[in-house]
Formats: sequence, structure tokens, C-alpha cells
Amino acid sequence: PDPKYEDARRETRRLSQEMWMYMDSQLKRLISQNVETDTKYIKDILAFGSHLHTAILLAHDTLEDEFEKWRNLRSNENPLNCSTADMFVCKLDTACGFGCQMHHVTYCLMVAYATNRTMVLVSKGWRYSKAGWDIVFRPLSKTCHENHPDVIKRMGNLTRLQIVDLNTGYHNPLALPDVLQTCIQHFHGHPRPWWVGQFVRYILRPNHNLEESLKNKEKRFTFDHPIVGIQVRRTDKLHSEASFHSLQEYMIHVKRWFDVAETKTPIVQRKVYLATDDPSLFTEAEHTYPTYSFIGDVNISISAQLSSRYTLESLKGVITDVHFLSMCDYIVCTLSSGVCRLAYEIMQTRHADASSRVKSLDDLYYFIGGAPEKWISIYNHEAQNEDEFSFNAGDTIHNYGNHWDGYSKGKHLRSGNEGLFPSYKVKNFF
Ligand code: GDP
Repeated sequence: PDPKYEDARRETRRLSQEMWMYMDSQLKRLISQNVETDTKYIKDILAFGSHLHTAILLAHDTLEDEFEKWRNLRSNENPLNCSTADMFVCKLDTACGFGCQMHHVTYCLMVAYATNRTMVLVSKGWRYSKAGWDIVFRPLSKTCHENHPDVIKRMGNLTRLQIVDLNTGYHNPLALPDVLQTCIQHFHGHPRPWWVGQFVRYILRPNHNLEESLKNKEKRFTFDHPIVGIQVRRTDKLHSEASFHSLQEYMIHVKRWFDVAETKTPIVQRKVYLATDDPSLFTEAEHTYPTYSFIGDVNISISAQLSSRYTLESLKGVITDVHFLSMCDYIVCTLSSGVCRLAYEIMQTRHADASSRVKSLDDLYYFIGGAPEKWISIYNHEAQNEDEFSFNAGDTIHNYGNHWDGYSKGKHLRSGNEGLFPSYKVKNFF
């Protein structure tokens, strides 16, 4: 919504009321003074004016209150009556890691939001903690949660969604409501993670105990700014899903960020928050980069290794890492990791525009099951060899990924050709 439009909309109402109050009082005064006027004539004007005023207010009410849609963002989660509310059930039983599970919950909440339903999360028996969601987070709904008698009674008849549905095209998680799209574009460089971030931040609200523990850790780590976060994903991720990236590759970007930051303000100590599932990195980092101060908790990374992963301790560990990464000024990571995508999404809720506060060593931002983002070419391109394809300015391209060497790989939608193209010739298209 355009704030100027909203202001004008409210002003039209106020001013039409002011005009009417003025006319009404002045004309009545004329009648009461009984000056040489035609009283009947004035009364007719008043009746006419009163009717016209009502008509203006009615017409005004049909002008849409654009902000209403923003204010209602979460209203479906707390219906007054659980026995009649439209509900949507999601089970937290997906056999994947924390990032992947939280994105599943995000997707469920988005579908519930888009279909005007209350999402009920069934979390008992969660692989990270059998006790369920509330062990670390605040309940998604204060009124209609999984333990509410009305919810238990209706459970058998409620619509459910499993993660496999992500691929059925039922609802694209990266599709923004039209009304928000244009507005977000005004202030944000990448509206989709911004949009996802609003849901993720709401979902991952820590409960009281976790909140206290995060505050204590903030003090213990002496977490302060400026600070860059790195998330180095190792162990099982390297078996088939992602490539190995050395600590040096991350640190090149950390150094670059501090070099630029230092031109603006003197920096006494270069601080790096280290999140990883490989505990050996803490020693490696301290030995190789003695001029940097690495903060974080090696015990978190011990509990994050695949062999000890699905425990309450590791759950609290990964939440801690996501929390502190999201609070950093800049993150260097592999966006192929759901942990980093979560941190990046939450980061969008902490600044007006944090779209460029991440450097990925591999993938561009994506959401599991989301349609590939469309990019638009801003220059013509003539293929230089058979690996490339040609296009004209204004063409649409599916960007499969940036190779971080000046070139990206993608598909030219009009011709169906796939291949490489210079990254600078296309830009994200919202
Ligand atoms: P992905 O496999 O990296 O895409 O992310 P997932 O969250 O889906 O699964 C990886 C799991 O490994 C997480 O849920 C954590 O339990 C653990 N893990 C991976 N990287 C980190 C990290 O940087 N910090 C912590 N604490 N845990 C991690």
C-alpha cells in the first residue's frame, strides 16, 4: 500500500465531515437568527446536504483500506471459537533436518493464510523432542492448538497437508499476494525471502525459557556489532547434496566485508559468529585466522553432527545458531543449506532491506518446492560459443544458478534453450 494513498483516503473522509459540520452549523444559525431568509428553503438545503453527506461517506467506505490486509496477517491463527473455525492440520513428522521441517511448517502456515484457515500443528512425537513444539517455541495459536478439546474432537475431519504436496503445485510458497508485491518492491531488493521471513519469524518465536537462554548466550558470547556470521555446512550434506567449501573460501568474503566496513568506521576487533556441524572448524578457524575473534559454541557443533543430531540439545543448538546468524550484519554460507536460508529469511525481518546481506558460495535463494524465480534480461546477448544461448533485452529466463565467475546457468523461456549467459545481463524479476 502507498502511504500517500492511505493518507488521502483518510483525509477525504475527515474533510467531507468537516465541510458538512460547517454547512450544517452555519445554516442552522441562519434559521435560529430568523433573519430575513426563507427558512423552508434553508431546511431543504440541509436535508439535501445531509443526504449527500451520507452518500459521500458510503462511497468512501467502498474505497479499500489497503493496510487492513497487512493488519490481518495473523488473525486466522487465533479464532475465538475453535469448534467452528476453518482449520488446516500439519504434522511435524517430516523425516528431514530442522531447516527443512521449519520450511514445511512455513509452507503450511502460508497455505492456511491463503485459504483463510487456522493452522493446527500436530507436533507430539517430533523427532527432535517427543514432547513437541512447546518445549522450545511459543504455540502457533493461543486458542486452537493440538491439545484443545475442540481440535481433538474434530481432528479426523480436518484437511491435512504432507510435505510431498509441496511438489503438486497446490500453492506456490514463493507467490506473494498481489497487494503486497508492489509495495514490498519499493523498499526491498528481494521480496520473496522477505515474505517468507514474516512467516518464519512468527513461527520461530522462542518460548520463555529459550528466550532467557538466548539472552544469556548473547552475553556469554559477547555478541556485538559489527559481526559477520559464517555457516559452514559439512557432514552428511557433502554426501550427495552439496560440494565441499574450505574455510578460506568463506573468509575471503568475511575479509572483504570488514575491509569495506572499516572504511566507514574503525573496527577494533573483527568478530565472526561461527555456526557449523563440524566441531573441528573452531580450532582450524582460531589457528588460521588469529587476527579474527570467532564466537559461537563448539558444543553446539558437536551436537549438530549427524550421529548426535536428533536430540533436544541439538535442537536448541540449531535454533541458537539460526538466531545469532540472523542477527549478524552479514552472512557467508551456502544457501543450499536450509539452516542458512532460515537465518537469511529471519534477517529480512530485522532490517528495512537485508536482501544483500548474504553471500552464498553455492545456490541462489530458493524455497523447497517453490517455482523457480523468473529473471529478466536487461541487455541483448549473442551466444559466444555452444555452451551459451542468445536472447534479447526483456526476455524471461529461469536462473538455475550463479557460477560466481561472471556466468550463470539457466533456460531461455521463449526458445527453450538452456546454457550459460553473463550474469550481469539479467536481473531478478518480481
Ligand atoms: P540442510 O540439510 O543443511 O539443508 O539443513 P537441515 O536443517 O534440513 O538439516 C541439517 C541439520 O543438521 C540441521 O537441522 C541441524 O540439526 C544440523 N545442522 C546443520 N548445519 C548446522 C549448523 O550450522 N548449526 C547447527 N547447530 N546445526 C546444524
